[in-house]
Amino acid sequence: MVKGKGGYLFEATDRALSYLTKKGKPFFIMIEVAKIDTGRHQNDAEKVVEEVIDFDQALAGALAFADNHPGTLVLITADHETGGATLPQGNVSNMQIELEFSTEDHTGIMVPLFAYALMLVLSDVCIKRDL
Ligand SMILES: [Zn+2]
Repeated sequence: MVKGKGGYLFEATDRALSYLTKKGKPFFIMIEVAKIDTGRHQNDAEKVVEEVIDFDQALAGALAFADNHPGTLVLITADHETGGATLPQGNVSNMQIELEFSTEDHTGIMVPLFAYALMLVLSDVCIKRDL
């Protein structure tokens, strides 16, 4: 079973966010898992999963940061798709997936864009203003 690369990206993300927060100024940070593309060019499912696990851990840290820092916007996307990968089957309880690739090149498949931000409930804002 693939387990990621030991949390390096999570740790780097956490340190970068702490460093930038201490400066007390608005900031922009881009966190990338560049070898997902390499793994997909090589049609190497194990490498892809390993990179996705690292990305997932770093993303969890970024989302937790956003939860604790209102006004933070987290955008998640990719610059392109590679490999034309599909997931024909898997077993969640065994944490196994099967990846099939249709090419070793970039594709024209559209990539998603997700956004995450802490949303304040309007009534909470009104209550705070009344105090
Ligand atoms: Zn590429």
